[in-house]
Amino acid sequence: MNAQTKLEGAAKAPFYQPQTDECELFEVAAKQDLPLLLKGPTGCGKTRFVAHMAAKLGRPLYTVACHDDLSAADLIGRYLLKGGETVWVDGPLTRAVREGAICYLDEVVEARKDVTVVLHPLTDDRRILPIDRTGEELEAAPGFMLVASYNPGYQNILKTLKPSTRQRFLSIEFDFPAMDHEVAIVVRESGLDENRVRPLVRLAAKLRDLKGQDLEEGVSTRLIIYAASLIRDGMPVERAILAAMIEPLTDDADVKQGLLDLVTATFG
Ligand code: ADP
Repeated sequence: MNAQTKLEGAAKAPFYQPQTDECELFEVAAKQDLPLLLKGPTGCGKTRFVAHMAAKLGRPLYTVACHDDLSAADLIGRYLLKGGETVWVDGPLTRAVREGAICYLDEVVEARKDVTVVLHPLTDDRRILPIDRTGEELEAAPGFMLVASYNPGYQNILKTLKPSTRQRFLSIEFDFPAMDHEVAIVVRESGLDENRVRPLVRLAAKLRDLKGQDLEEGVSTRLIIYAASLIRDGMPVERAILAAMIEPLTDDADVKQGLLDLVTATFG
């Protein structure tokens, strides 16, 4: 099936460095049963944010990494053959609706079109999930919250959320953290000391300035953490940067050379 995990909310909240008031906004949305849409580039902390808030609020969390083959049935559930019998098995969305959990649909625009149809009755004040296959109409248990994320940066007109779907959600825009916040995050996540992390973050800022010119996407916080972790384990700085912060960004030899020149200018 799809990549899906369930985390119990009672676990200690994973570290999350807020960008602005997103934690307060999440809390209000959770209290008022409002669905939430997180917009922003990949690797900037959206998934970590949801995990942090779920743990803080003590709600179980179902995370589904959406992909272009993910259908409504993957979320809702299906009949499966078990020991010669056909039994109904709930999907992650149905489980979240029954249990009053948070369901996080990561990169929701990647999923098939039929998924948005399922989300509509759940995102208005009916808060119901019709399950056509079993004839059930589930009312969401108290605590159920739908959170979805998408990356508006991808230049694909077909893969954007329709206004009729988008306008059902409160939305928060995420971007890469401010320099000092990002340094703190990378230090904490990688274990590399601050004066070795800061130049990596500075380089990332320069690489992000190239977005839209030579690069489709800027380097993510995740990739800086990878580079810092390689360096902490003893890899030479330039090698770590190449593997973690340059190669993942481009396949074009000329662009790559341009990025390497930027590395030399920053570290040389
Ligand atoms: P996204 O869901 O936006 O693609 P993630 O939440 O998976 O990104 O973030 C990637 C990694 O970057 C996380 O695993 C975490 O280590 C780190 N990270 C990014 N932003 C933050 C933040 N604000 N606080 C703590 N860690 C962060």
